[in-house]
Amino acid sequence: MFDYMDYVAEHGHEQLVFNHDRETGLRALIAIHNTTLGPSLGGTRLWTYAHNEDAVLDVLRLSEGMTYKAACAGLPLGGGKAVILADGKENDPAVRAARFRAFGRFVESLSGRYITAEDVGTKPSDMVNVHKETNHVTGLPTSDMEGGSDDPSPMTAYGVLQGIRASAEEILGSRDLNGVRVSIQGLGKVGWALTEYLLEQGARITATDIRPDVLKKAKSIGIRVVEGDEIFDVEGEILAPCALGAIINPNTIPRLNYKIIAGAANNQLENIERDSTALAERDITYVVDYVINSGGLINVATEIEGYDYSRARSKTSEIFYTIKEMLALAKSAGITTQEASMIMANKALDNAKIAV
Ligand code: NAD
Repeated sequence: MFDYMDYVAEHGHEQLVFNHDRETGLRALIAIHNTTLGPSLGGTRLWTYAHNEDAVLDVLRLSEGMTYKAACAGLPLGGGKAVILADGKENDPAVRAARFRAFGRFVESLSGRYITAEDVGTKPSDMVNVHKETNHVTGLPTSDMEGGSDDPSPMTAYGVLQGIRASAEEILGSRDLNGVRVSIQGLGKVGWALTEYLLEQGARITATDIRPDVLKKAKSIGIRVVEGDEIFDVEGEILAPCALGAIINPNTIPRLNYKIIAGAANNQLENIERDSTALAERDITYVVDYVINSGGLINVATEIEGYDYSRARSKTSEIFYTIKEMLALAKSAGITTQEASMIMANKALDNAKIAV
């Protein structure tokens, strides 16, 4: 049986709260991992869990990841996350709206120690209902309030482009992407926006998706399309995972003919230690997911002080230098990029402690 009290102590979480709303049947967890740098921020996941303890582990794991993501992005924010346990009743729009209002009251009860946003399973319209009960919510539609930042995906894609340019400069010898072969897995909100950026830069794109309509659209603009798993066998300089997690694993690593992995997907490595070491042994540079995909977080974080697109874009541009620093540290210290990113995150946390 999963002992969450031991887990919290071992991983340094500050708070884990469970909320049940009698009226609506809402069951939700909020985990606050670390508020050294500022209030915790992280999305709300609506998900069906096979076991309640899976939900607890998920919210704890995800909130910790948010601490390192915000720290590496240089944001004055800590790590937090929420999960709402789906039971099917939220398919009724009235129940859904009432539950998200109840969730908003739950967020409000933490007095700003946790700021929420959209995540897997939740939509901007849900955040509008949350906003009826609390101001501690970001990623609102532009129409809902002055200062709403809307869909973060284009900013995430812009940040990934910065990470790709930085890693190309370090590994391929130039940030110029003209003629560089990039393979993209997943042409969704981020993957498509990234494709457009890369085409502008003259990169040669190969892509895959499971949606035939998207592949047809990609072919119509001259993108080379491959089916399913074939993307792992394509020869190129850069693989940009923009669909699923856990796609870098012992089955795919031996097949890879790329020099760099740099994409938006969360949790790309099936097992962080094992797979980051295996990639380093094959001389494939892994650009750590939570560092390269932080443009979306930067976008919603900008909303806290009143959204300003130029400010969000300028801060997202800094991902270029963060990735350069991470790659240089990994090289000079002879460690994996994953280890380098943790050193950078912990340094930001330690500096904040010294400043207090
Ligand atoms: P999305 O749902 O819009 O796009 C995902 C795409 O991947 C879809 O087109 C889907 O058809 C495709 N796909 C699913 N399974 C696939 C498979 N087996 N092979 C190939 N394609 C497959 O999601 P998104 O918002 O573009 O996010 C993409 C990834 O980036 C996710 O892992 C997400 O967690 C991560 N991410 C997104 C943001 C953001 O701002 N949207 C921020 C940080 C991280």
